[in-house]
Amino acid sequence: LRTDKVAIRIKTDDVDNRPMPDNFTVVVLGPPGVGKASLTSQFMTSEFIGVSDNTYRDGEKTISVLLDGEESTLNFVDPVIDEVDFEETPIDAFIVVFSTNDRSSFDVAADTLHQLRHEFVTNKAIILVANKIDLVRKRQVTADEGRAVASQFDCKYAETSAALNHHVDELLVGILSQIRLQNDPEAV
Ligand code: GDP
Repeated sequence: LRTDKVAIRIKTDDVDNRPMPDNFTVVVLGPPGVGKASLTSQFMTSEFIGVSDNTYRDGEKTISVLLDGEESTLNFVDPVIDEVDFEETPIDAFIVVFSTNDRSSFDVAADTLHQLRHEFVTNKAIILVANKIDLVRKRQVTADEGRAVASQFDCKYAETSAALNHHVDELLVGILSQIRLQNDPEAV
């Protein structure tokens, strides 16, 4: 028993000496079927994954990202399936996902951006994500349309294919960069 305690003690000290990575919460919004779960699970395969524990289970998608020599953990939350108390959990960024082969999902995304900017938050990082760009011949929403709506609501814009793992790394890095920029008091 005593040996066990010593072993645990040493482990705790090691953890205590490690600098705590910044921990950020990212809310993932979008109608069913646009690829929210696929995107978050593809983040796990990123080359920017850091050294802390990564978990991907129901209700818990924590991804450690190493960018510019600094580690941060991003906790991805889908408010429809994950039970999160937003009174207790400050939100750092939103990603609003639509599917480029489904115009109605783009309309939902535009409404969501409007609500986020005008009714809920004004100053959080928001990224509009056009997913499923691999479905080229079924495409219903152009990149120009996506970009225009994003700039209308002062959001970043990204195009991805979760299925082909295309530009998913760039999205992950983009999310963290936006959060860091937002939290940097020196940033304009
Ligand atoms: P969610 O309901 O928004 O979480 O969507 P899911 O991640 O469950 O994806 C819904 C369906 O779309 C699944 O069958 C996925 O395999 C598919 N899907 C997700 N991303 C892509 C993509 O980039 N391209 C294609 N072709 N299919 C995708």
